[in-house]
Amino acid sequence: MKRSEFLKSALGGAIAMESLKDLYQWNEQLATKDSLMPMLFVGHGSPMNGIEDNEFSQGWQKFGKEIAVPTAVLVVSAHWYTPGTKVTAMPEPRTIHDFGGFPKALFDVQYPAPGNPALAKETAALIHKTNVGLDHEWGLDHGTWTVVRHMYPQANIPVLQLSIDYTKPPRYHYELAKELAILRKKGVLIIGSGNMVHNLRILNWQLTDKGYDWAIEMNETFKSLILKNQHSSLINYENLGQAAKMSIPTPEHYLPLLYILGLKEENEKVSFFNDKTLMGSISMTSVKVG
Ligand code: ZN
Repeated sequence: MKRSEFLKSALGGAIAMESLKDLYQWNEQLATKDSLMPMLFVGHGSPMNGIEDNEFSQGWQKFGKEIAVPTAVLVVSAHWYTPGTKVTAMPEPRTIHDFGGFPKALFDVQYPAPGNPALAKETAALIHKTNVGLDHEWGLDHGTWTVVRHMYPQANIPVLQLSIDYTKPPRYHYELAKELAILRKKGVLIIGSGNMVHNLRILNWQLTDKGYDWAIEMNETFKSLILKNQHSSLINYENLGQAAKMSIPTPEHYLPLLYILGLKEENEKVSFFNDKTLMGSISMTSVKVG
Protein backbone atom coordinates (compact mmCIF):
# COMPACT_ATOMS: atom_id res chain seq x y z
CA MET A 1 0.00 0.00 0.00
CA LYS A 2 1.25 3.44 -0.91
CA ARG A 3 1.73 5.91 1.91
CA SER A 4 -1.07 8.18 0.62
CA GLU A 5 -3.45 5.24 0.35
CA PHE A 6 -2.53 4.09 3.84
CA LEU A 7 -3.22 7.56 5.27
CA LYS A 8 -6.49 7.77 3.44
CA SER A 9 -7.65 4.43 4.73
CA ALA A 10 -6.39 5.11 8.27
CA LEU A 11 -8.12 8.46 8.27
CA GLY A 12 -11.27 6.91 6.87
CA GLY A 13 -11.10 4.34 9.62
CA ALA A 14 -10.67 7.05 12.24
CA ILE A 15 -13.67 8.92 10.93
CA ALA A 16 -15.70 5.74 10.86
CA MET A 17 -14.61 4.97 14.45
CA GLU A 18 -15.55 8.48 15.54
CA SER A 19 -19.02 8.32 14.00
CA LEU A 20 -19.53 4.87 15.45
CA LYS A 21 -18.64 6.23 18.89
CA ASP A 22 -21.09 9.09 18.41
CA LEU A 23 -23.71 6.66 17.29
CA TYR A 24 -23.16 4.53 20.38
CA GLN A 25 -23.32 7.57 22.63
CA TRP A 26 -26.46 8.76 20.93
CA ASN A 27 -28.01 5.33 21.21
CA GLU A 28 -27.12 5.22 24.87
CA GLN A 29 -28.74 8.58 25.49
CA LEU A 30 -31.77 7.53 23.57
CA ALA A 31 -32.03 4.29 25.52
CA THR A 32 -31.74 6.12 28.83
CA LYS A 33 -34.14 8.82 27.83
CA ASP A 34 -36.63 6.49 26.28
CA SER A 35 -36.69 4.08 29.16
CA LEU A 36 -36.77 6.61 32.02
CA MET A 37 -40.30 6.34 33.39
CA PRO A 38 -42.03 9.58 34.37
CA MET A 39 -42.86 9.98 38.07
CA LEU A 40 -45.73 11.43 39.99
CA PHE A 41 -46.38 13.14 43.25
CA VAL A 42 -50.09 12.94 43.81
CA GLY A 43 -52.30 14.87 46.17
CA HIS A 44 -54.74 12.08 47.11
CA GLY A 45 -57.13 14.03 49.37
CA SER A 46 -60.32 12.36 50.52
CA PRO A 47 -60.63 8.56 50.20
CA MET A 48 -63.92 9.27 48.35
CA ASN A 49 -61.82 10.17 45.31
CA GLY A 50 -61.33 6.41 45.07
CA ILE A 51 -64.93 5.93 43.90
CA GLU A 52 -65.89 9.35 42.61
CA ASP A 53 -65.68 10.37 38.99
CA ASN A 54 -64.49 13.93 39.61
CA GLU A 55 -61.87 16.37 38.35
CA PHE A 56 -59.16 14.75 40.50
CA SER A 57 -59.84 11.13 39.59
CA GLN A 58 -60.11 12.23 35.95
CA GLY A 59 -56.69 13.90 36.25
CA TRP A 60 -55.17 10.63 37.51
CA GLN A 61 -56.90 8.65 34.79
CA LYS A 62 -55.51 11.00 32.15
CA PHE A 63 -51.99 10.69 33.58
CA GLY A 64 -52.25 6.89 33.34
CA LYS A 65 -53.21 7.13 29.68
CA GLU A 66 -50.49 9.67 28.81
CA ILE A 67 -47.48 7.67 29.94
CA ALA A 68 -46.07 4.33 28.76
CA VAL A 69 -47.52 1.27 30.47
CA PRO A 70 -45.26 0.63 33.47
CA THR A 71 -43.76 -2.74 34.36
CA ALA A 72 -44.82 -2.10 37.98
CA VAL A 73 -45.92 0.73 40.25
CA LEU A 74 -44.05 1.59 43.47
CA VAL A 75 -45.91 3.93 45.81
CA VAL A 76 -44.53 5.85 48.78
CA SER A 77 -47.78 6.53 50.64
CA ALA A 78 -48.31 8.96 53.52
CA HIS A 79 -50.38 6.22 55.16
CA TRP A 80 -47.58 3.72 55.64
CA TYR A 81 -45.51 5.47 58.27
CA THR A 82 -43.26 3.04 60.11
CA PRO A 83 -40.14 2.73 62.22
CA GLY A 84 -37.57 1.67 59.60
CA THR A 85 -38.22 1.22 55.88
CA LYS A 86 -40.21 -1.67 54.45
CA VAL A 87 -41.35 -2.78 51.03
CA THR A 88 -44.45 -4.90 50.41
CA ALA A 89 -43.29 -8.31 49.23
CA MET A 90 -46.44 -10.42 49.06
CA PRO A 91 -47.71 -11.83 45.75
CA GLU A 92 -51.28 -10.65 46.41
CA PRO A 93 -51.46 -7.45 48.45
CA ARG A 94 -54.79 -6.88 50.19
CA THR A 95 -56.84 -3.71 49.77
CA ILE A 96 -56.65 -1.83 53.08
CA HIS A 97 -59.62 0.34 54.07
CA ASP A 98 -57.65 2.51 56.49
CA PHE A 99 -60.32 5.12 57.24
CA GLY A 100 -63.60 5.46 59.09
CA GLY A 101 -66.97 7.16 58.63
CA PHE A 102 -67.26 6.69 54.86
CA PRO A 103 -70.04 4.98 52.87
CA LYS A 104 -70.15 1.22 52.53
CA ALA A 105 -69.50 1.54 48.80
CA LEU A 106 -65.97 2.70 49.60
CA PHE A 107 -65.37 -0.21 51.98
CA ASP A 108 -66.63 -2.60 49.30
CA VAL A 109 -63.88 -1.63 46.86
CA GLN A 110 -61.24 -4.23 46.19
CA TYR A 111 -58.22 -3.44 44.06
CA PRO A 112 -56.73 -6.86 43.31
CA ALA A 113 -53.49 -5.76 41.60
CA PRO A 114 -50.75 -8.36 42.05
CA GLY A 115 -47.55 -7.71 43.97
CA ASN A 116 -44.08 -8.57 42.67
CA PRO A 117 -41.95 -10.35 45.32
CA ALA A 118 -38.87 -10.39 43.05
CA LEU A 119 -39.07 -6.65 42.50
CA ALA A 120 -39.56 -6.15 46.24
CA LYS A 121 -36.30 -8.01 46.88
CA GLU A 122 -34.54 -6.02 44.17
CA THR A 123 -35.84 -2.75 45.64
CA ALA A 124 -34.68 -3.69 49.13
CA ALA A 125 -31.24 -4.61 47.76
CA LEU A 126 -30.89 -1.27 45.98
CA ILE A 127 -31.15 0.68 49.23
CA HIS A 128 -27.86 0.85 51.13
CA LYS A 129 -28.82 3.62 53.53
CA THR A 130 -30.71 1.18 55.70
CA ASN A 131 -31.86 -2.44 55.85
CA VAL A 132 -35.19 -2.56 54.11
CA GLY A 133 -37.60 -5.11 55.52
CA LEU A 134 -39.60 -7.38 53.20
CA ASP A 135 -43.17 -6.96 54.43
CA HIS A 136 -45.90 -9.59 54.20
CA GLU A 137 -48.52 -7.87 56.40
CA TRP A 138 -49.41 -4.53 54.83
CA GLY A 139 -50.89 -4.30 51.33
CA LEU A 140 -52.32 -1.35 49.45
CA ASP A 141 -53.55 1.47 51.68
CA HIS A 142 -55.91 4.18 50.49
CA GLY A 143 -52.99 6.51 49.63
CA THR A 144 -52.29 3.96 46.89
CA TRP A 145 -55.45 2.24 45.70
CA THR A 146 -57.79 5.25 45.63
CA VAL A 147 -55.42 6.78 43.07
CA VAL A 148 -53.92 3.84 41.17
CA ARG A 149 -57.29 2.21 40.45
CA HIS A 150 -58.17 5.22 38.30
CA MET A 151 -54.92 4.91 36.36
CA TYR A 152 -55.03 1.14 35.90
CA PRO A 153 -58.65 0.06 36.41
CA GLN A 154 -57.94 -3.48 35.24
CA ALA A 155 -55.61 -4.02 38.21
CA ASN A 156 -53.25 -5.89 35.89
CA ILE A 157 -50.02 -4.09 36.81
CA PRO A 158 -48.09 -5.15 39.94
CA VAL A 159 -48.24 -2.57 42.73
CA LEU A 160 -45.77 -2.31 45.62
CA GLN A 161 -45.50 0.12 48.50
CA LEU A 162 -42.42 1.50 50.21
CA SER A 163 -42.93 2.77 53.76
CA ILE A 164 -41.76 6.07 55.21
CA ASP A 165 -39.44 5.79 58.21
CA TYR A 166 -40.88 8.26 60.72
CA THR A 167 -37.71 8.31 62.81
CA LYS A 168 -35.73 10.07 60.05
CA PRO A 169 -35.42 13.74 59.05
CA PRO A 170 -36.61 15.07 55.65
CA ARG A 171 -33.18 15.04 53.98
CA TYR A 172 -32.82 11.33 54.74
CA HIS A 173 -35.89 10.57 52.59
CA TYR A 174 -34.65 12.77 49.76
CA GLU A 175 -31.29 10.93 49.74
CA LEU A 176 -32.77 7.46 50.13
CA ALA A 177 -34.98 8.01 47.09
CA LYS A 178 -31.90 8.51 44.88
CA GLU A 179 -30.96 4.86 45.44
CA LEU A 180 -34.09 3.82 43.57
CA ALA A 181 -33.11 5.60 40.34
CA ILE A 182 -32.42 2.43 38.35
CA LEU A 183 -36.05 1.31 38.78
CA ARG A 184 -37.15 4.15 36.49
CA LYS A 185 -34.97 2.69 33.75
CA LYS A 186 -36.74 -0.61 34.26
CA GLY A 187 -40.12 0.91 33.56
CA VAL A 188 -41.27 1.17 37.18
CA LEU A 189 -43.65 4.05 37.83
CA ILE A 190 -42.70 5.65 41.15
CA ILE A 191 -45.47 7.59 42.87
CA GLY A 192 -45.32 9.70 46.03
CA SER A 193 -48.83 9.94 47.48
CA GLY A 194 -49.69 12.61 50.06
CA ASN A 195 -50.79 16.26 49.99
CA MET A 196 -48.38 19.20 49.97
CA VAL A 197 -50.78 21.24 52.11
CA HIS A 198 -52.52 18.99 54.63
CA ASN A 199 -53.95 20.24 57.89
CA LEU A 200 -56.96 18.21 59.01
CA ARG A 201 -57.30 20.01 62.34
CA ILE A 202 -58.52 23.21 60.69
CA LEU A 203 -60.33 21.65 57.74
CA ASN A 204 -63.43 23.66 56.81
CA TRP A 205 -66.21 21.58 55.20
CA GLN A 206 -68.02 24.79 54.16
CA LEU A 207 -65.11 25.77 51.92
CA THR A 208 -65.74 22.88 49.51
CA ASP A 209 -63.83 24.39 46.62
CA LYS A 210 -61.59 26.95 48.23
CA GLY A 211 -58.39 27.14 50.25
CA TYR A 212 -57.42 29.55 53.02
CA ASP A 213 -55.19 32.39 51.81
CA TRP A 214 -52.11 30.89 53.45
CA ALA A 215 -52.85 27.49 51.86
CA ILE A 216 -53.11 29.04 48.39
CA GLU A 217 -49.91 31.00 49.05
CA MET A 218 -48.04 27.89 50.19
CA ASN A 219 -49.26 25.84 47.23
CA GLU A 220 -47.84 28.55 44.93
CA THR A 221 -44.56 28.67 46.87
CA PHE A 222 -44.15 24.89 46.63
CA LYS A 223 -44.76 24.92 42.87
CA SER A 224 -42.34 27.76 42.32
CA LEU A 225 -39.57 26.06 44.35
CA ILE A 226 -40.17 22.78 42.51
CA LEU A 227 -39.90 24.50 39.12
CA LYS A 228 -36.66 26.20 40.16
CA ASN A 229 -35.16 22.95 41.49
CA GLN A 230 -34.69 24.63 44.87
CA HIS A 231 -34.74 21.32 46.65
CA SER A 232 -32.84 22.46 49.75
CA SER A 233 -35.60 24.95 50.55
CA LEU A 234 -38.19 22.20 50.08
CA ILE A 235 -36.24 19.80 52.31
CA ASN A 236 -35.85 22.48 54.97
CA TYR A 237 -39.53 23.43 54.72
CA GLU A 238 -39.58 24.31 58.41
CA ASN A 239 -37.71 27.49 57.48
CA LEU A 240 -40.39 28.57 55.02
CA GLY A 241 -42.38 30.52 57.59
CA GLN A 242 -45.79 30.39 59.21
CA ALA A 243 -47.72 29.24 56.11
CA ALA A 244 -45.43 26.20 55.88
CA LYS A 245 -46.00 25.38 59.55
CA MET A 246 -49.76 25.54 58.98
CA SER A 247 -49.49 23.44 55.80
CA ILE A 248 -47.30 20.73 57.30
CA PRO A 249 -48.30 20.27 60.96
CA THR A 250 -47.03 16.67 60.65
CA PRO A 251 -44.71 15.58 57.82
CA GLU A 252 -46.23 12.28 56.59
CA HIS A 253 -48.27 13.79 53.73
CA TYR A 254 -45.38 16.01 52.61
CA LEU A 255 -42.47 13.53 52.70
CA PRO A 256 -43.64 11.53 49.64
CA LEU A 257 -42.89 14.66 47.59
CA LEU A 258 -39.24 14.51 48.69
CA TYR A 259 -38.91 11.00 47.21
CA ILE A 260 -39.99 12.30 43.81
CA LEU A 261 -37.68 15.34 44.04
CA GLY A 262 -34.75 13.17 45.15
CA LEU A 263 -35.22 11.04 42.03
CA LYS A 264 -35.71 13.94 39.64
CA GLU A 265 -32.89 14.58 37.21
CA GLU A 266 -31.84 18.21 36.91
CA ASN A 267 -33.22 18.86 33.43
CA GLU A 268 -36.36 16.80 33.61
CA LYS A 269 -39.59 18.52 32.76
CA VAL A 270 -42.08 19.25 35.52
CA SER A 271 -45.78 19.96 35.14
CA PHE A 272 -48.70 20.30 37.53
CA PHE A 273 -52.28 19.12 37.37
CA ASN A 274 -55.23 18.91 39.79
CA ASP A 275 -53.75 22.18 40.97
CA LYS A 276 -56.31 23.23 43.54
CA THR A 277 -56.68 23.97 47.24
CA LEU A 278 -59.92 23.02 48.93
CA MET A 279 -61.67 22.71 52.31
CA GLY A 280 -59.39 25.47 53.49
CA SER A 281 -56.31 23.47 54.30
CA ILE A 282 -55.80 20.76 51.64
CA SER A 283 -53.99 21.08 48.31
CA MET A 284 -54.67 18.48 45.66
CA THR A 285 -51.78 19.51 43.40
CA SER A 286 -50.11 16.70 41.49
CA VAL A 287 -46.55 16.99 40.18
CA LYS A 288 -45.62 15.11 37.02
CA VAL A 289 -41.90 14.66 36.41
CA GLY A 290 -40.64 13.54 32.99
ZN1 ZN B 1 -54.01 10.93 53.24
